[in-house]
Amino acid sequence: MTALVRISGLSRVFDVSKPLLNRLIERLPKAMLTAVSDVSLEIEERTVYALVGESGSGKSTIGKMVVGLLPPSEGAVEIDGIDLASETDAKKIDAARSEIQMIFQDPFASLNPRWRVRDIINEPVTARGGKANGLAERLLDQVGLNAADAVKYPHEFSGGQRQRICIARALASQPRMIVCDEPTSALDVSVQAQVLNLMSDLQEEFGLTYLFISHDLTVVQHMADRIGVLYLGRLVEEADADALFETPRHPYTQMLFAAAPKMDGFGREVEPPKGEIPDPISPPSGCAFHPRCPIAIDRCSRERPEMRRVHGTRVACHLAE
Ligand code: SF4
Ligand code: MG
Repeated sequence: MTALVRISGLSRVFDVSKPLLNRLIERLPKAMLTAVSDVSLEIEERTVYALVGESGSGKSTIGKMVVGLLPPSEGAVEIDGIDLASETDAKKIDAARSEIQMIFQDPFASLNPRWRVRDIINEPVTARGGKANGLAERLLDQVGLNAADAVKYPHEFSGGQRQRICIARALASQPRMIVCDEPTSALDVSVQAQVLNLMSDLQEEFGLTYLFISHDLTVVQHMADRIGVLYLGRLVEEADADALFETPRHPYTQMLFAAAPKMDGFGREVEPPKGEIPDPISPPSGCAFHPRCPIAIDRCSRERPEMRRVHGTRVACHLAE
């Protein structure tokens, strides 16, 4: 297998300072927020890689850097060997970009209300000077809607149907990869499974690669081949999905599992994750998880654990064995 996406030492820092004048009056220092810190991972072609973590863990920021919507502060994202941030050949950048599409959480916000569905779906092709030739109608059929829906407007559809339209639009340029940022979390629970099943079918049918972003482990359980767990912008554990579900090794991953409702709906009390997510502008020393970790030792607040391999899992915890 070959890696379609290679992320190495990726970091992204945002300046979230108050305006200069306020800072001078209030004598405040600059405030820098490290949303993503030193993340390295690879995504094999034709697989589903899930990035999981609570809000503010840096998942969406990584997604945006992968599609080229946001430049990294440090490190690189290579798509098929091309680094979007440093490549200068416009043709190569354009080609690499068209191979990756993104689907967002909110299907209401990501469709232009004044456009007919046909024009929305065809746009990625027509904007590049291509001919659509019934493309929207074919894709609507493929995502479980009707070809006749092409003349309608977004407001005529339900949330789940709109997300199907977003998926059709993402498929229009025949991408190799789709970054899916919480694609079902704005939908009714009853609709979520249908949309996930559709995405799963399309992934197999078109041989797609997904980077699937979610705060919910149960959502990715049936779809992911590999899972990366993020905490405060850092990858803390990464393993094949089966291995991670079988033996979660990082205490934070274990906490996420305890908080996840079981798909079968039986047994087990759901425990919400304990403790507050720390302020990312001044994260805790050492292992950033130590204030919430039930098994933390002295060393944890002093020394940041390096990522290392434990029985095939990559994990950043002093006590992972
Ligand atoms: Fe917990 Fe220490 Fe492991 Fe961090 S390094 S997860 S604080 S045991
Ligand atoms: Mg997000």
